Amino acid sequence: MENDAFGTRDKRGHWRPNGALSGVAPIYALPPQPMRVLRWLPEYLLPWNALFAATALLYWWLVVPPAETMQTLSLGWIWPMLAVNAVAVFLFYGVFELRLYVRRAQGARFKYNPAFPADRPSKAFWWSNQTRDCIARTFLSGVPIWTALQVLILWAWANGVGAWVTWEVAPVWLVVLMVLVPVVHEAHFYAIHRLIHVPFLYRHVHSVHHASVNPSPWSSLAMHPVEHLLYFAGALWYLLIPAHPVIALFALHRAGFGAIPGHVGFDKVELGGDRAMDTHAYAHYLHHKFFEVNYGDGLVPFDALFGTFHDGTPDGDMAMRARLKERRERQLARDAQSGA
Ligand SMILES: [Zn+2]
Ligand SMILES: [Zn+2]
Repeated sequence: MENDAFGTRDKRGHWRPNGALSGVAPIYALPPQPMRVLRWLPEYLLPWNALFAATALLYWWLVVPPAETMQTLSLGWIWPMLAVNAVAVFLFYGVFELRLYVRRAQGARFKYNPAFPADRPSKAFWWSNQTRDCIARTFLSGVPIWTALQVLILWAWANGVGAWVTWEVAPVWLVVLMVLVPVVHEAHFYAIHRLIHVPFLYRHVHSVHHASVNPSPWSSLAMHPVEHLLYFAGALWYLLIPAHPVIALFALHRAGFGAIPGHVGFDKVELGGDRAMDTHAYAHYLHHKFFEVNYGDGLVPFDALFGTFHDGTPDGDMAMRARLKERRERQLARDAQSGA
């Protein structure tokens, strides 16, 4: 599949897709534009959000034990969940890593950064190896903290702690909430993400995630344990919002498995023939490349509101440079004033 029709490569080999990203999802249009929202819904739901909703439902039916079992904390039911989460992450992340980064099945076609991390050892990583470092962090603290919060939520539900409702009592509300899970996830993520870009927290916590300047699939959950905790804590909102535990599971799957699309490093995954799947990775890729843009993915409009949105175009580059230059000058003026 030829990628020149979909984007351009600069002379350093970096590829950018044609067109501009949208920083404001159509749900925020005023006056409301229902037809635009309807046209956007398939892109919102497919493939990722529908997939993670489905995995949450399967998990609820196949893995979660009866409420009576979960009323008491016991390793007998916690270990199997940890094992299923670990195996699922290994398989889901592994498929992308194996196809795109080990076998390099589509070379660098649709790859934003032409380099493959395995070809560029870096001291920023344990063992100077991005993939091994990221895998270690995923399984040392990522999956255990995800599972711990999941256990806490299910234990709370089994003991009647929280604002839980049943599908019989509130079916319409629960369907609406299910559709809104990715929006709640992103609002939470945006807030904690801005927080961990505060210099002290960036230095001690978030710099671990940003070591992947050229992200690859395993970068997704390569975080400091404090970031893991803040990140997966997005599911705790469903202890306060009237919900069903399957919705909290969906939030955890959106966070845990849903980190992949933003870090895959490719704009499209080729599926054979002329078919390819859009990853929607570009907005977050730009965050890894430029650090101070796109704290969210546009599903909440905060980047556009606060002036940190980068639409991926050369104009977006210029706007970002002008903003950073202005900030530097303001800082210099402040420093000069306080030194005077
Ligand atoms: Zn990231
Ligand atoms: Zn960041």
